[in-house]
Amino acid sequence: MTSIGIDLGTTNSAASTLIGDREEILDIEGDRTIRSVVSFEPGDDEVLVGNMAADLMERNPDVTVSSIKRHMVDDDYTVSIDDDSYEMTEYAPEEISALVLKKVLAGAEGSLGEAPDGAVITVPADFPENARAATRRAGELAGVDVLRLLSEPSAACVAYGLRDRDEDIERVAVYDLGGGTFDISLVDVAHEDKFYDVVATEGEQELGGDDFDEALAEWIAEQIEDETGVDVTDDPGAFLQLKGKAKNIKEQLSARNSATFRDPGTISGENVDIEITREQFEEVTEHLVDRTIEFSETAIESQDMTPDDVDTVLLVGGSTKIPAVKEAVEEFFGQEPSQEVNPDEAVAIGAGVFADSIDPKKALEGDGEDRSELPSDSEGIDVGDVVPDDLGIELASGKIDTIIESNANLPTMERREREYTTVEDNQTRALIKLYQGEGDTVDDGDLELKTEFVLENIREAPANEPEITVQVKLDEDGVLSAHAWDESVVGSDVIDPEDADEVADGEAHIDMTPSGDEEKLSVEEIRALLPSIA
Ligand code: ADP
Ligand code: MG
Repeated sequence: MTSIGIDLGTTNSAASTLIGDREEILDIEGDRTIRSVVSFEPGDDEVLVGNMAADLMERNPDVTVSSIKRHMVDDDYTVSIDDDSYEMTEYAPEEISALVLKKVLAGAEGSLGEAPDGAVITVPADFPENARAATRRAGELAGVDVLRLLSEPSAACVAYGLRDRDEDIERVAVYDLGGGTFDISLVDVAHEDKFYDVVATEGEQELGGDDFDEALAEWIAEQIEDETGVDVTDDPGAFLQLKGKAKNIKEQLSARNSATFRDPGTISGENVDIEITREQFEEVTEHLVDRTIEFSETAIESQDMTPDDVDTVLLVGGSTKIPAVKEAVEEFFGQEPSQEVNPDEAVAIGAGVFADSIDPKKALEGDGEDRSELPSDSEGIDVGDVVPDDLGIELASGKIDTIIESNANLPTMERREREYTTVEDNQTRALIKLYQGEGDTVDDGDLELKTEFVLENIREAPANEPEITVQVKLDEDGVLSAHAWDESVVGSDVIDPEDADEVADGEAHIDMTPSGDEEKLSVEEIRALLPSIA
């Protein structure tokens, strides 16, 4: 039994799975990625999907569908195919996507030797609810159990294994320039919780490798006109062909300083040879790169950050192989971006790793890890439920201090940094009780105790001096976990709670009473915390 991850891209799609401990891109009939293109060739009773369909695009654009992902958000959009060899002549975007997924699944079955029975499918971080629902339906139409939808930037973070690193919290910028779209996302990685939170995403649906192809094709057309007097842009078919060649030249120029455009006469009617340097390509596409940096700026500013505040930058999407793109990103963020995982494959790899980690069947097979709590059909990791009621801790005064407000989107995490302290001199322990519900105090309100735990090893100090941080997290399924630590114990701003023994934590399900295996101590024995007055 295997679960796989699928990057259902605007331009290209790919799938991956874990084989043993290794992430593997699944071969789809000989290719690692396939074009997300569907072709309804007349007279053929099989729909062509993938690279062969993409090859037909130039010759028969009327029966070829590409970039359908852009329309997943539009409930009323249909693709009309004007040919009677097909029963259906009108297709909803999810039906076209289902055909792409079917191809990916068939390829996966071929390379795995069995049909995958569950899949995680990735979606852009800012995909609205209806587009997510349409993606789910596409998976179901293709005949696979959609375990979860995962946002693309989160998938990239998973592929890089960021959560398994040693640091505590990290802010990551995922710069994703694909074939037709650009996204810049800021993701918080909370290592101790294995938690990813996309805090901001900016970008454009119509900015990607295609625009680079088009800009270069227009420039080449000018050169052709100078040489031959023929304006290729007047003939849509010829220009489409030229764009195809421009794409090829663009990709060559990522590895070389110059490339040659050759037309034996099929495009302009005359024999043309044009030498194109990387520098010339960079000039005609500079405005596109600049736009991506403007979006990056907007995203950073939306979080009141500066580029310096970003700890790691990941490059995702085929178009980040363009050297000028890499350079612009490096200049903006003031650090070298990571490209260790192939940018064409990072999203698929992350989805595959994630699919394995939530595979419900693995829990039954008993591979040692208890995954029984993990649902098989919850909504996407970035959408889903909201917190029904305020969640807060009880202070020594008896008052409830709200940490997570009702209606926050799940998953969510709040950290109150150095906001709490002790009420007694040399107090080394504190009881942290988390309540959910309405009311100012436990006695005077409708509150339910969700979890309680004891924070130990508080630095011996006069009352009010220790600076204590409390962090509360609700994952996408509403599972609550909380951590607390004394910042002054280790003497650094941020500690890794996993490594520090003074960290205490508790877990409970939001709809369940806590397990209560924490050491129970009465409120008299241990004082709860007061907000610091600093
Ligand atoms: P999407 O996420 O939109 O499905 P991809 O991430 O697969 O797209 O990116 C596809 C784009 O990447 C295409 O425009 C393609 O031309 C471009 N691309 C792929 N390889 C290279 C390369 N070596 N140099 C420049 N562009 C490349
Ligand atoms: Mg992509």
